Amino acid sequence: MAGDNPPILYIEDNFENRVLVRRILQAEGYEVLEADSAQSGLRIAQEQKPALIMVDINMPELDGLTLTSMMKADRSLSHIPIVAITANVMRGDRERTLAAGCDGYIQKPIDVDLFPQQVHQFLELTHRDSQAEGASPWQST
Ligand code: MN
Repeated sequence: MAGDNPPILYIEDNFENRVLVRRILQAEGYEVLEADSAQSGLRIAQEQKPALIMVDINMPELDGLTLTSMMKADRSLSHIPIVAITANVMRGDRERTLAAGCDGYIQKPIDVDLFPQQVHQFLELTHRDSQAEGASPWQST
């Protein structure tokens, strides 16, 4: 079982959210790496090179958008898809996540039934030419 699916890194300061996402993804057979801060998330990303990074936007000290910009500027990490997971619903939030370099956006509260499918779509970005515009799950949401 283990090893078939690449690890997914979830960077989130809220414990309950981490537990929920871990449960859903582990039930789907994914290996889940967790970080409770942007700083530790960056370190784990550099060490483990996950297939997908999901990042909370609202975190103390270093927010998810700043972290995303840092990871996209890191040539060892820039190829890894990053999905923002956030409760922010204000106008312009989606544009801000894109501007920071996020490859997608999943809104909280997480839809437990839909979430595995969303993650699967984003994981496919790993194997896709980054220049293939229009193929992003962004387009259908
Ligand atoms: Mn948070």
